[in-house]
Amino acid sequence: MIISGTHINYYNHCKRHLWFFAHHIFMEHTSELVALGKFISESTYQREKHELHLIYGEDEIIIDFYDPKNKRIHEVKKSNKMEETHIWQVKFYIYVLEKMGIKGVTGEIDYPKLRQKIDVILDDNDRKRIEEIKEEIPKIISNDIPPSVINKSYCKNCSYYELCYV
Ligand code: SF4
Repeated sequence: MIISGTHINYYNHCKRHLWFFAHHIFMEHTSELVALGKFISESTYQREKHELHLIYGEDEIIIDFYDPKNKRIHEVKKSNKMEETHIWQVKFYIYVLEKMGIKGVTGEIDYPKLRQKIDVILDDNDRKRIEEIKEEIPKIISNDIPPSVINKSYCKNCSYYELCYV
């Protein structure tokens, strides 16, 4: 199966969310927070917007902005509450570009609202972990029922909240 950056993102965020996404159960349009995130993403880097969408083998990535001269990935996010999730998403992008033979790529996550940015690199442990995640994702998705709810504070801001708790 094709593994996208979104799968990696949801895997780290919530495996139940990943399952809903993979089974085409969408409630994103009901979330104002998601809409805000999309607005910030679309309204940043307007002049230098250079989205990179590619499929390589079983991997699919859509990078907000790729600077080929400096081999630098830029990913724009609304808030740093899910920083670890964002970091793994960018590590996956670096991993896929490496597999395509593009070495020396680094990443940067930009939080325009917070006026912050963080650097992302990929090391051998990360490469190993990504391989493991890529094996685990199809197993989660192939289950007939979704994984259990995770009872995290950020569930309240999740588009699936009502489906999970009400
Ligand atoms: S509400 Fe919580 S448990 Fe349900 S999908 Fe969202 S993050 Fe996962």
